[in-house]
Amino acid sequence: MFLSGFYGHQAAVVRGPKQPFLMETIRVDPPKKMEVRIKILYTSICHTDLRAWKGENEAQRAYPRILGHEAVGLVESVGEGVTDLKAGDHVIPIFNGECGHCPYCTTKTTNLCQTYRVNPFKSVMENDGKCRFSTKDGEPIFHFLNTSTFTEYSVLDSACVVKIDPNSPLKKTSLLSCGVSTGVGAAWNAANVQAGSSVAIFGLGALGLAASEGARARGASKIIGGDINPGKFDKGKEMGMTHFVNPKDISKPVHQISIGKGGK
Ligand SMILES: [Zn+2]
Ligand SMILES: [Zn+2]
Repeated sequence: MFLSGFYGHQAAVVRGPKQPFLMETIRVDPPKKMEVRIKILYTSICHTDLRAWKGENEAQRAYPRILGHEAVGLVESVGEGVTDLKAGDHVIPIFNGECGHCPYCTTKTTNLCQTYRVNPFKSVMENDGKCRFSTKDGEPIFHFLNTSTFTEYSVLDSACVVKIDPNSPLKKTSLLSCGVSTGVGAAWNAANVQAGSSVAIFGLGALGLAASEGARARGASKIIGGDINPGKFDKGKEMGMTHFVNPKDISKPVHQISIGKGGK
């Protein structure tokens, strides 16, 4: 374990809207109070990364920047005050972190932490408003979504890191950081699907498929998947969908058709 900054590891850095991801050698500072430094083992890409890459609005345009928020990694070192994580722990980053003591973290009606809630515009660390990444010449490189995972090493607030079972399949587990949790949570928490209910899911990408898994886990009896790409239907079946509708194959608005026995 080394609590010094180090230079020599690679990161995919974006230097402007829609500019190529450049592999750059960067400096990574040590974790400060209540922060952790993690070695990223696997990372995946999500549309939210692409939005920030495009810089769709002015507030998102913080460059140079290290994007990425779905990953799995190993804790390399921990900053002062971190007691629930240690070097060697397997972890996933959580862009929707939890400080554990603000009014939002302590109520059961929301999990959107006052300090670490989802904020694609945040680009610096909470502690001191600075970056933990820089170039050889000391140019700061901005953070993204409390996480920044397109890098060999990242520094995160410990509130934005969750320990996982070291035996979980690491290559796939990065999806728990965003896609799977978002979809399963949509069915489980937001829609609060009840046993025996019917569920319709529009769009069978990663989120739609995960929403189906959430609905299945809650005991939905009918799960209808809608997509204009019928190539998604086999995967939908695997994730618990029982019926399918392709809006291109019907003449009426999708909410006016009856999807019954056997489905389509
Ligand atoms: Zn995402
Ligand atoms: Zn909180």
